[in-house]
Amino acid sequence: MTTFACGHCGAALAFEGVRTEICPYCASPNFVERPTSSQPDPDFVVPFARDSELARRSLDRWLGSRTLFADPALRAAKVEDLRAIYVPAYLYSAVANTEYTAQIGENYTETETYRVKDAGGKSRTETRTVTRTEYRPLAGRHLQYVTDVIVSASVGLPNRELSRALPFDLKQMHRFSPALISGWMTEEFSRAADECRSASRSAALDQVGQRLRRFMPGDSFSDLAWNTRVSWESLDPILVPVWVFVVTYRDDKQPLRIVINGQTGKVTGKVPLSPWKIAIGIAVVLAIVAATIYLLAGRT
Ligand SMILES: [Zn+2]
Repeated sequence: MTTFACGHCGAALAFEGVRTEICPYCASPNFVERPTSSQPDPDFVVPFARDSELARRSLDRWLGSRTLFADPALRAAKVEDLRAIYVPAYLYSAVANTEYTAQIGENYTETETYRVKDAGGKSRTETRTVTRTEYRPLAGRHLQYVTDVIVSASVGLPNRELSRALPFDLKQMHRFSPALISGWMTEEFSRAADECRSASRSAALDQVGQRLRRFMPGDSFSDLAWNTRVSWESLDPILVPVWVFVVTYRDDKQPLRIVINGQTGKVTGKVPLSPWKIAIGIAVVLAIVAATIYLLAGRT
């Protein structure tokens, strides 16, 4: 395998038998051969599903559903510029031991009486049903096994972009062997394990918070506070399959990057919109509204 490094985004990719002179992440031509660094082998690989056809069809469909207001330069982009990359990531799991407190609200109804005055100025008593909430304190302990947290160890594809392409079906994961990745581009592990561990931990704590909120009894709750201790942490280096589509559609604009999950075909990215197309779209809608009002007014 030969390693190439991008002078623009910093990604280092190893591959053989794949042809490219530009960086697959940022389309920079400043993509040069460099000596291969000694890299730890990943523990597991989530393999690519089938071939590039799946990615191509997903991308075509996705672009098709967004071209009405898309920048016209984008439609000239070639889907052949799709690149398959095994992206380095860490798979994290842990036991989360949480102590929490909250105020739990229970609703009840009450009948109350009130005085009204009728038209003649005479006052009388009426009744109505009102809903009230009673709060009681709740404290407890919650034990949760957090699994399948994936964070990017790539400099080419930051975690915020990889996380949009999640999830992967980890039941399809294989133990790493060099044969699994031969013929594919593979990025080197370029973020420190410690950095990825703390990113994983905060993703795990988010999961704990979501679970706690779902799990609260009563009709409503307030003042939920919790404190989590994690133990039995594991952090495994893995490779995940991603298709990247980078297109420079205007010289004065940042290239557009669309990321496709190489297992499920899920497409993520933002299509640049054309300001004048949006303006025409709004003008057409306003014209239809005006015409409708005119017609309705003419009928009465
Ligand atoms: Zn690059």
